[in-house]
Amino acid sequence: MDNEKKNVNRVLNEKKENLENKNSKSRKKIGIILGITALLILGIIILGMIFGRKNINFRNIATEDEDDKIFRINPVKNPQVTYYNFRGEVYPDWAKFGLTRSNGARGHQGIDIFALPGTDVYAVLDGKIVDMYVDKTGYGLNFYLEVNPKELEKIKRKNYKPKESAREWAYSPNYDPNTMQVKYIRYCHLSEVNVKIGDTVKAGQVIAKTGTTGNASGTHAPHLHFEIAFEMRGKGLTNRVDPEMYFKIKNGNQMSRHEIKIQTEAARTEWFEPKGYDIGFRNKSIFLEKKDDLHKKEKIINNSKKMNLKKVGKK
Ligand SMILES: [Zn+2]
Repeated sequence: MDNEKKNVNRVLNEKKENLENKNSKSRKKIGIILGITALLILGIIILGMIFGRKNINFRNIATEDEDDKIFRINPVKNPQVTYYNFRGEVYPDWAKFGLTRSNGARGHQGIDIFALPGTDVYAVLDGKIVDMYVDKTGYGLNFYLEVNPKELEKIKRKNYKPKESAREWAYSPNYDPNTMQVKYIRYCHLSEVNVKIGDTVKAGQVIAKTGTTGNASGTHAPHLHFEIAFEMRGKGLTNRVDPEMYFKIKNGNQMSRHEIKIQTEAARTEWFEPKGYDIGFRNKSIFLEKKDDLHKKEKIINNSKKMNLKKVGKK
């Protein structure tokens, strides 16, 4: 009897062990499958990140302000103000936004970022090209990138206050963050563009090459004139803000000796605009034209109203 019981118990135990073995084996299998799936998903995400952004190398064009740890894509690599002015005199303040010219009598509505002609220009945020034309006596080949004001607000430098130049302003006189939304980024004096009006672009995409077109022709300080505006049109500093509010651009005292040396070399040359750079581009802003059309229409409507009144008068 006892032996029989023992046998039964042994068989039962063996069955139990087999069952436990099976369970642990199937658990291992599930674990392996889960692991492989996780690896596959991770791989897909990494591949997506690599190829989804048109092979953009963010390491070179993005910077982080040590003050606020915000990731920003710069309009050109390693942005720094022009150390020299148009005539080739040392004058880093000349590059800055505000009443920085002619001893405070004249304003500068953007910032001049040093760049040898032909330097890659990047979209700083996702956006749309809404205007592009050649202004032969001013901005040269230039365009407007319209961006989402909320995205621009996200990269605003938390602790930036103009301090290095007494005449440098942060905001134009009209600036009121409650009613106005910053939304236009303007790139000027370009030599080439990779985009056209209506194109949507991705942050980090190369959209143009720098140049010295327009009134920058003949300069000793080749640069990208870079503006941020909350209205399409501004006069002087009105409706514009200091780009340094959003982008960390090296000032004269932050540049290395090597960086100043590169600018000094460049200042030995007078950089002229290439001939025929304007061919194929409109010579007037699309928005000014629209305004003109509107005025014409208004005139026609007003005139026909007058005519009708005269007719009515005759009757
Ligand atoms: Zn400028």
